[in-house]
Amino acid sequence: MNDVGREPPAGHILLRHREIPEIDNLEVYRQNGGFEALRKAVTLMGPDEVTEEVKTSGLRGRGGAGFPTGLKWTFIDYDRYPHYVVANADESEPGTYKDREIMEGNPFQFLEGVAICAYAIRAETAYIYLRGEFWQIAESLDRQIEALERSGFLGDNLFGTDYSLRISTHLGAGAYICGEETALLESMEGKLGQPRLRPPFPPSFGLYGKPTVVNNVETLTNVPMIIKHGGDWYRNIGTEKSTGPKIFSLSGNVERPGNYELPLGTTFRELIYEHGGGIPNGRLIKAIMAAGASSSLIVANDEALDTKMDYESVPNVGAQLGSASVIVIDDTVSIPWLINKTIHFFKHESCGKCTPCREGNYWMVHLTERIAQGQASMNDVELLYDVASQIKGKCLCALGEFSIEAVLSGIERFRTDFEQVVAD
Ligand code: SF4
Repeated sequence: MNDVGREPPAGHILLRHREIPEIDNLEVYRQNGGFEALRKAVTLMGPDEVTEEVKTSGLRGRGGAGFPTGLKWTFIDYDRYPHYVVANADESEPGTYKDREIMEGNPFQFLEGVAICAYAIRAETAYIYLRGEFWQIAESLDRQIEALERSGFLGDNLFGTDYSLRISTHLGAGAYICGEETALLESMEGKLGQPRLRPPFPPSFGLYGKPTVVNNVETLTNVPMIIKHGGDWYRNIGTEKSTGPKIFSLSGNVERPGNYELPLGTTFRELIYEHGGGIPNGRLIKAIMAAGASSSLIVANDEALDTKMDYESVPNVGAQLGSASVIVIDDTVSIPWLINKTIHFFKHESCGKCTPCREGNYWMVHLTERIAQGQASMNDVELLYDVASQIKGKCLCALGEFSIEAVLSGIERFRTDFEQVVAD
């Protein structure tokens, strides 16, 4: 029975630990409806029905790309086995810290989502790939997985059916690029974490060459609620094309940084001023990065502040929603200084596989350093713009494209900041 037409709950859907103390304890999670959705899926629904329900919900990938989740599950090659689910917990984007809070605060809902996804794509093995720095979370997930096996929610013949599932954790070694799904799979196979040439894509050629779904932690944590209440219920939250709740990681020059779970389509103004408490010391807001360090710099005028944070609206102000890691930049921040910081990050994290990204980021660091230190001329700014333009569209994976977003938009939209720091 689905809760069609029912109003979305007043509390959290993903960050439920904020209302339910100790929901990271299996008994408490079960007392609050935990594993009802997995039981419903495995005992009352066929795998394709589960996928259809997720398609109906309109859920889109929360890792940044926003690709429809249910549709992704249908791409699995059902003529070849085994299938794998890999939960992408390699959360490394500067300004993004939502998956960490889910895994620490509400881990069983995430694990239940992994299990439902595995059932839907007919996988009997699932992995959770965590960034190396999350070793403590991996240890606690291992304990929680053991508790699930002891309680019969994981292991052989779930709920008396012939469906069996095992989940294991896998720690990376701290490379940002392993958040890219094919680099992640290479890393899991014990190889250098570098992106693969695509096609083929993971649903046909994934882990060990087998059909694989890679989904983000937040994405999977939505799934139990969709199966429990129904896809139509989920569609009541958010906008028509960007459905459901989203965790916005708010940071930068803001009074109350933190994770805020809000419906997709909430405006930047509401997030920054109502929930985040506005800008410290009454300063003016200057720019916004909507997707962490990978974001273009949005000019924070009234139009931008009133823009809805969803996959369709953010491009209207020249950026992408991405992982919704909103960094607030006030009028004390020099844009050349900020760009230098982002390029340092991308140069350090470039895997070096393709020349435009590897060499381009090296040169952009040198140029932005000179510019930020006041040792450059406007010719150097033009050269920086040229180098960034040459990287555009020529890289093997998205990291190369991410690295130039702040550079190009910064020079185009905040030119006076550069004029103020150049030598001539
Ligand atoms: Fe590696 Fe950068 Fe090329 Fe991606 S764009 S494959 S990170 S060198």
